[in-house]
Amino acid sequence: MPPFTLPQLPYGKDALSPHISAETLEFHYGKHHQAYVDNLNKLIAGTKYENKDLADIVKNTSGALFNNAAQNWNHTFYWKSMSAEKNQSPKGPLAQAIDQNFGSYAEFEKQFAAAAVGLFGSGWAWLVLLKNKKLKIVTTADAKTPIGTASGTPLFTMDVWEHAYYIDYRNARAKYVEGFWKVLNWNFAGENFDQSMAVKRPTAWKQPLKKSSKRFRK
Ligand code: ZN
Repeated sequence: MPPFTLPQLPYGKDALSPHISAETLEFHYGKHHQAYVDNLNKLIAGTKYENKDLADIVKNTSGALFNNAAQNWNHTFYWKSMSAEKNQSPKGPLAQAIDQNFGSYAEFEKQFAAAAVGLFGSGWAWLVLLKNKKLKIVTTADAKTPIGTASGTPLFTMDVWEHAYYIDYRNARAKYVEGFWKVLNWNFAGENFDQSMAVKRPTAWKQPLKKSSKRFRK
């Protein structure tokens, strides 16, 4: 069995309609993502990457191998960034962080849409939690991904390759972006946010001295 397989979609192919149709998922998931899986398996066959995990390959390669590995990672993350439970909104700590970082949810949505629609050519729009715990809207070209640059933790992503919307919206990327908000999985984004915020820096200085450390005192 080849090392990588197409991951299960977290919902049925018609679950996102009418915003993203079953036909789009037939092609986008069934053909495009499948092709990235097949290409990746061909490229790693007989190399040191055969038994590596996907994120490791993304972080340590370039060229065709990077492109196919990153497109696998990005698409898997994209499927999870959407939900059959439509019209969600951000909740709890993530909702508060969006207000603090962007002024309001409406302002965040406006800025994110502008970035996604304005990205020239193919690529991805992301909400990223930076290492300094600030939220940032990031766009990446082609297969590029925030996990490869270690700039922060992606919370959700929007695929803005034409293959993501051409069947449903033809060339009207802005219409696709409007539909995407309806199927965005804010529960997933919130879980990613909470997990990332919970990763604390070492707090050794707060620990009481152990008895054995007395011998180092004068
Ligand atoms: Zn895509």
